[in-house]
Amino acid sequence: MSESPPIARVAVPGPLRGALDYRVDEGEPLPGMRARVPLGRRQVVGVVVEVPVRAGVAPGRLRPVTEWPDEAPLLDEELLGFLQWAADYYHYPIGEALAAALPVRLRQGARAAYTRETCWRITDAGREASAQSLQARAPRQAALLERLQAAETLTAAHFPERGGDWRGGLGRLADKGLAVTETVDTPALVVGRAREGAEPVPNTDQQEAIDALRAARGFQAVVLEGVTGSGKTEVYLQAIEAVLARGLQALVIVPEIGLTPQLVDRFAGRLDARIAVLHSALADGERLDGWLAAREGRADVVIGTRSAVFTPLARPGLIVVDEEHDASLKQQEGFRYSARDLAVVRARRLDLPVVLGSATPSLETLHNARRGRYSLLHLPARAGGATMPAFRLLDVRGRPMRDGLSEPLLERVRSHLDAGGQVLVFLNRRGFAPVLLCHECGWLAGCERCDARLTYHRHRSRLHCHHCDHERPVPRQCPECGSVDLRPVGQGTERLEAAIGEAFPDTSMIRIDRDSTRRKGAFQRQMAAAQSGEARLLLGTQMLAKGHHLPDVTLVAVVDADQGLFSADFRAPERLAQLIIQVAGRAGRAERPGEVAIQTHQPEHPLLQMLIHGGYRAFAEEALREREAADLPPFSALALLRAEAVDAAAPRAFLEEARQAAPEEATVTLLGPVPAPMERRAGRYRAQLLLQASTRAALQHHLSRWMPTVAALKSARRVRWALDVDPLEML
Ligand code: ADP
Ligand code: ZN
Ligand code: ZN
Repeated sequence: MSESPPIARVAVPGPLRGALDYRVDEGEPLPGMRARVPLGRRQVVGVVVEVPVRAGVAPGRLRPVTEWPDEAPLLDEELLGFLQWAADYYHYPIGEALAAALPVRLRQGARAAYTRETCWRITDAGREASAQSLQARAPRQAALLERLQAAETLTAAHFPERGGDWRGGLGRLADKGLAVTETVDTPALVVGRAREGAEPVPNTDQQEAIDALRAARGFQAVVLEGVTGSGKTEVYLQAIEAVLARGLQALVIVPEIGLTPQLVDRFAGRLDARIAVLHSALADGERLDGWLAAREGRADVVIGTRSAVFTPLARPGLIVVDEEHDASLKQQEGFRYSARDLAVVRARRLDLPVVLGSATPSLETLHNARRGRYSLLHLPARAGGATMPAFRLLDVRGRPMRDGLSEPLLERVRSHLDAGGQVLVFLNRRGFAPVLLCHECGWLAGCERCDARLTYHRHRSRLHCHHCDHERPVPRQCPECGSVDLRPVGQGTERLEAAIGEAFPDTSMIRIDRDSTRRKGAFQRQMAAAQSGEARLLLGTQMLAKGHHLPDVTLVAVVDADQGLFSADFRAPERLAQLIIQVAGRAGRAERPGEVAIQTHQPEHPLLQMLIHGGYRAFAEEALREREAADLPPFSALALLRAEAVDAAAPRAFLEEARQAAPEEATVTLLGPVPAPMERRAGRYRAQLLLQASTRAALQHHLSRWMPTVAALKSARRVRWALDVDPLEML
């Protein structure tokens, strides 16, 4: 018998669950290398996951590999194994999981080489120039000059914020001779420099946490629970310093970099390290450069959003997940992974410590800490001596309200403004009003494609669906009865802005939400006005609630706490509590004490009572008791099989068949299929089937037996379906 030709098992992009075998006519395949291979009539780029001795089919019937883009494996054994684990756990096709982990250029088959990239270097003239004198005419250039003077060179990695014409600004500084551009072969790294005296002296709690992290070797999941402003970032920095001193790399995962651009500057001002920043506003070449730099160990620190959990690391030493409770760490479409959970898995596989930091840890994480699987470090007080804000519930039952504002709330705002404080008014709903109603006949403006109301945006004079993005002009008359008496019902930030503007006509105010920050650089400008104290009244959605240091704010006013209390989603109370605590954390961060005033029709609601009297921890204990009684996560494990189709009956039919095909198992209960809470969205009907298992292991066991059958069902071809393991949104 003649020797059979070598074979490569290649994970290719697409819905295939396994990898495909190809014949190797030339070259030497190794796992982790990319291969260009034929798939149907197309050529695709896949990754070799295995080099088997024997093919699944007769070698004569195999198609050959077309080309090898890599000379050596692009993904090392660790990363490849980790991705395989993740694909298995989320029951997602391995080829797609691999594609999600690779920078676009590599996915397309480009060479794994640095793209030449531009950086801006300061000139002698630039060093001596005064940013102040630029301030009046060209504030953006002044700010850029200041950053350039501090950092010496700037690259795209310094600008994680979406938009913001920093290239133009730096170009104009170059025109003036204050900066020069250089084309370099080195990757897009932020070169950090520890500044003398920038390091505050840690308080006792911080020191304890720092010592514990510095001593940690091997796998250990550590929860850093610290109230807002307690100096968690400071703890990360000092723990990372020690990791760097040992010649190792740190990976830092954050929910959104664009909302906290100062984070990168803060790291760069404190660490003698080359920092790769992986964010969504990077050009493809820049992302590739950062990825390669991490892989080669040219980058010492990697800061990135959720997909950064898949960054290759040459000499990993520590993983940090900041704001570990944040829902944006979970991908909500396609490869629905939790970057937080995967960070823990990766740390375990790498045998490294991982830190999960938050002021409001998720119930899952607290539960793991209680069971002793994670250790817990606590920062109970604010760093630098600032005190925690005082909470006050404003009972608005039976009180007159104007545009959603009660007199007691306005009185609190007035009193803080008069005392020289800055006031933050929080409402997590944008637009003018969530409903437009005909007063004559009761008609409501609804979306044609969703089971949802259209939000009225007065400024743009549009009706907008926040679920499918459908937009249309505001009708002059009711389409049902012809009446012109159309009334906005309920409040959004736009309406609040008008109402507060009327109540405080002489006070400078800015509104920060997705609508007000649409234009390039608008978010940065508005945050700057908020932080400098130029605007005395700040109004906004959770965009404003996250992570920003607003030292002048003395009052946080929560306009509507009731929305989250009665949702069908069992996680809604947890999310509401986290949001209230996070937004409250903006108040009184500096010397002045802060106050949080919460308007509610439910002042006796146990959740609110628990939260304001016992704090987040007391709330969490109670919420965990409720979850346990109801057998909900973290006391059980869930998966949601979703299906949608234009044809109303198809999703139900598919899920019904899937249910029939499920193996009988005592540890797993199937609930449904039922219509999704919003049955129609973007013109498609949606239904879902919920799986509830006693443990994650039981769930996994069941899914492994069941999913291959589900994928092969004929009715699956008539719907779009997806499995969500550990779903965060039940909608
Ligand atoms: P967190 O990440 O918990 O919100 P930060 O690390 O951002 O907290 O710290 C909040 C503020 O307190 C920052 O301005 C930080 O520089 C400052 N800070 C942190 N630790 C100390 C300390 N030990 N002494 C004085 N100021 C500190
Ligand atoms: Zn009408
Ligand atoms: Zn819609």
